[in-house]
Amino acid sequence: MLYKEPAPIKDRENPFESMMSRFNIAAEVLGLDEETYNVLKSPTRQVIVNVPVTMDDGKVRVFEGYRVIHSTILGPSKGGIRYAPDVFLDEVKALAAWMTWKCAVVDIPYGGAKGGIICDPFTMSAGEIERLTRAYTAALADTFGPDQDIPAPDMGTGPREMAWLMDEYSKTKGSTVHAVVTGKPLVLGGSLGRVEATGRGVMVSAMAAMDKLGMDPSKSTAAIQGFGNVGAWAAKLMAERGVKILGVSDVSGAYWNDNGIDIEDAIEYKNAHNGRLEGYKGAEMMDPDELLTSKVDVIIPAAVEDVITIKNVDKIQARLIVEGANGPTSYKADNIINEKGIMVVPDILANSGGVTVSYFEWVQNRMGFKWTLDRVNERAERIMNESFERVYATSQKYNVPMRIAAYIVAIDKVAMTYKYRGGF
Ligand code: NAD
Repeated sequence: MLYKEPAPIKDRENPFESMMSRFNIAAEVLGLDEETYNVLKSPTRQVIVNVPVTMDDGKVRVFEGYRVIHSTILGPSKGGIRYAPDVFLDEVKALAAWMTWKCAVVDIPYGGAKGGIICDPFTMSAGEIERLTRAYTAALADTFGPDQDIPAPDMGTGPREMAWLMDEYSKTKGSTVHAVVTGKPLVLGGSLGRVEATGRGVMVSAMAAMDKLGMDPSKSTAAIQGFGNVGAWAAKLMAERGVKILGVSDVSGAYWNDNGIDIEDAIEYKNAHNGRLEGYKGAEMMDPDELLTSKVDVIIPAAVEDVITIKNVDKIQARLIVEGANGPTSYKADNIINEKGIMVVPDILANSGGVTVSYFEWVQNRMGFKWTLDRVNERAERIMNESFERVYATSQKYNVPMRIAAYIVAIDKVAMTYKYRGGF
């Protein structure tokens, strides 16, 4: 199954502004000095490559690709590679910074990076994509490395591309280097538990938040937008803990059942129907626009960005929002959410179970040893719980919402590490 490495952001019009608006608030609360502020906001390195690739018709096409390393203060940089026709440098810059904060929130020893190639993988043959991936890897062979910069999948890429990347990089080094990339197929050194890791982290965050709010999972209800990797796993694991999932949605529409949807049954149906719930009979169809404003205790946006905006935030009835997706809440909606007293477990915390298990993949590759699924899950849950507690305590200490608290935790960690390491 494909997965995407945490590929944060987004305010489509201005990804950098969306990220910086929250960064700025946290930096101000922390009293970050101007010098450190400037260090943390500027990407360390931005590489632009133009790679010639022979297409199936024999003609050579030149593709522009990027790799932005936002920070290596905490360790080697980590972040996915996006293949999309509209990917642009500013977007990659914002995504790279977001990775820095995400890794810092969960306290894993990585900096942040992101890559992208302007291409449309859906119109290219497998052979063309393979040659493009290999050419991009060869061009960046000095940038990538298990101790330098570790890519992963993002939009438009998956385990297949990561396998080619690992193979091409290994050729340049003359030996097999599994740890240069995560999100590989299991047989090539991928980790057990990676597929469900993000949904599991969402569930752990939701349980921790419900505990703080005095909500009993077995008496609580939820609605989940998106029934793909993150949404379906979160739904399954939440239901196992007693939460009644009243509504779910995917691209085919939204589905509601007052008695709770049988999630196992819905997943089975989806798997048998091309990954979609279209035609599912275990629930009634409802207006997808009403799912996130329906009468439930918890909402989990786990599909796309910018779905909670000033247009619908007033109507939200839930007490808790757990952000499975990256950037589901536009920064303009933040204030109203806070005024309404809704707790938000922000994306850089709630969906970081994915990058955490990617980190485990890298650790296992370096040890040359595979962990059992139980070990992966147990360690990932511990990291998620500890991270939640850290962010929650910070929100109490500074009297700020969880989102700003997550940024404070991240910026503080990177800033402190920078002070110890020193500059020039
Ligand atoms: P996916 O492609 O497996 O699933 C996406 C789901 O959203 C599908 O069910 C799709 O039908 C649905 N969807 C798409 N547009 C929709 C819409 N407008 N309304 C309702 N449903 C819609 O993707 P995924 O891996 O589950 O990722 C979901 C989100 O989580 C993305 O924002 C992604 O960046 C983020 N995320 C994923 C991971 C991961 O490990 N997979 C990690 C961190 C963050």
